[in-house]
Amino acid sequence: MINDIDKMLTNIERETYLTRDFIGKDKLSTEVMAAMRAVPRDKFVPQEQKDFAYHNGPLEIGCRQTISQPFIVALMTDFLALKPDTKVLEIGTGSGYQTAVLSLLADKVYSVEVIDELAFSARQRLKKLNYSNIEFHIANGHYGWPEHAPYDAIIVTAAAASIPPALLEQLKPKGTMVIPIGHAHCCQSLVLINKDQQNNIKTKNILDVCFVPLV
Ligand code: SAH
Repeated sequence: MINDIDKMLTNIERETYLTRDFIGKDKLSTEVMAAMRAVPRDKFVPQEQKDFAYHNGPLEIGCRQTISQPFIVALMTDFLALKPDTKVLEIGTGSGYQTAVLSLLADKVYSVEVIDELAFSARQRLKKLNYSNIEFHIANGHYGWPEHAPYDAIIVTAAAASIPPALLEQLKPKGTMVIPIGHAHCCQSLVLINKDQQNNIKTKNILDVCFVPLV
């Protein structure tokens, strides 16, 4: 297993280097790589997928949803530049894998999932693994989670046709959001959004990606 995790980390490093011209960096932060090493991905995939848990690819998690490719999880997390006092909103809890990575780097994670079956099992799994700084919510994440807004960082792990206005509103000044934007299942771009002190928005297309759609 240790060897599998090492291979996964090497693959993340390799893919970071190969995409450096698009993502604007040739290495991800040490903290993000440490979090990727620490979270046991095999505990987040169904039994029949365990052999592939540390492959650098997405895997099915049931309910026609997928756990994202480790490189993309690491990259999106890196762009959020989380600090120990950061409050982060995640849309698309899914298996809870990305949630676990965020929880190691942020003060508090607010995670929203629309499919109750996935939300319940992610909550149970994360509790069993002793991740304690996470709040779960079953709702349509298109509208964010206004009760705990504003957030320093927002991550959306399903593709939207355009940036949901509620999420922009719930982002703090100087906050960062990463979200795949595009068609369902194809031709999406990972978009990095920065809000400045005056609430001006800057967006940057980072990389072509393929996520399940935000419903
Ligand atoms: N980050 C997850 C994988 C996400 S797959 C992981 O690490 O496993 C995308 C997830 O987004 C799915 O669980 C899907 O049910 C959820 N989703 C899709 N549309 C949504 C919406 N409108 N609000 C909240 N969650 C949504």
